[in-house]
Amino acid sequence: MNVAQAVGAGEALGLERLDAQLLLLHALGRSGTDRGWLLAHDTDPVTAGSEAAYLALCERRASGEPLAYIVGHKEFHGLHLLVDARVLVPRPDTETLVDWAIELLEDMNAAAPRVVDLGTGSGAVALAIKDACPNAGVEATDISRDALEVARSNADRLGLHVGFHEAAWLADVPGRYDLIVSNPPYVREDDPHLPALRHEPIMALASGPDGLDAVRAIVAQAPSRLAPRGWLLLEHGYDQAPAVRALLAAAGFGYVASRRDLAGIERCTGGQWLESG
Ligand code: GLN
Repeated sequence: MNVAQAVGAGEALGLERLDAQLLLLHALGRSGTDRGWLLAHDTDPVTAGSEAAYLALCERRASGEPLAYIVGHKEFHGLHLLVDARVLVPRPDTETLVDWAIELLEDMNAAAPRVVDLGTGSGAVALAIKDACPNAGVEATDISRDALEVARSNADRLGLHVGFHEAAWLADVPGRYDLIVSNPPYVREDDPHLPALRHEPIMALASGPDGLDAVRAIVAQAPSRLAPRGWLLLEHGYDQAPAVRALLAAAGFGYVASRRDLAGIERCTGGQWLESG
């Protein structure tokens, strides 16, 4: 089998061409940025050992395992993050949350704004914020010790200083913050899409009958933990923006607004805490 035939074999197993190419590069010990190499070497033979390894990776992908788990990494907001089945795969949609957070921090013009990321998983949101705003003091929590191990190793590898805590949202993490951000679980527990996400941790995805249990818990905790004029930003599901805006307004937040992701879907909602209480 040569390189071109191997890509074709992956497609024949039902894979997207791009995924087949990335898995072949992985099996050949090459970087995912080497797709040009595949084209230039399409008639090169693939050794029997590499072919067997590659086809095994294709089978995993065909059974629904995320590409990021198979190759062990994912790019997020320009950061190279290591990921495995202990954490949700960072989604491009979540860059909307990060971009909004960075804008707010720049507008605050504070010497050292305090930020906390709740349910950090791989550390993606906290690390992207710290990378863009080095003067911010960034903390992150997760209830999963396994997830925190992944997040800490990403922080160490990237040389980004973030304080990680095993906690349920803001519980047991002292202090007040200028910005609280979270991409919490928000999928309805009976959502028909959940089975397709079965390789990822269910606790990072599902959140009660309407998907809003985690959002409600965070909105309840946040006011007493925000500095005056501090912001709360939350990612949520494609149809949850009105409900999240209503929850924030009912809790007393001002300037409540939503932002759209790359697909044009209202994906994040935030508000400012205008009282000092
Ligand atoms: N955006 C993810 C999905 O629907 C869900 C992530 C989450 O629950 N935080 O695939």
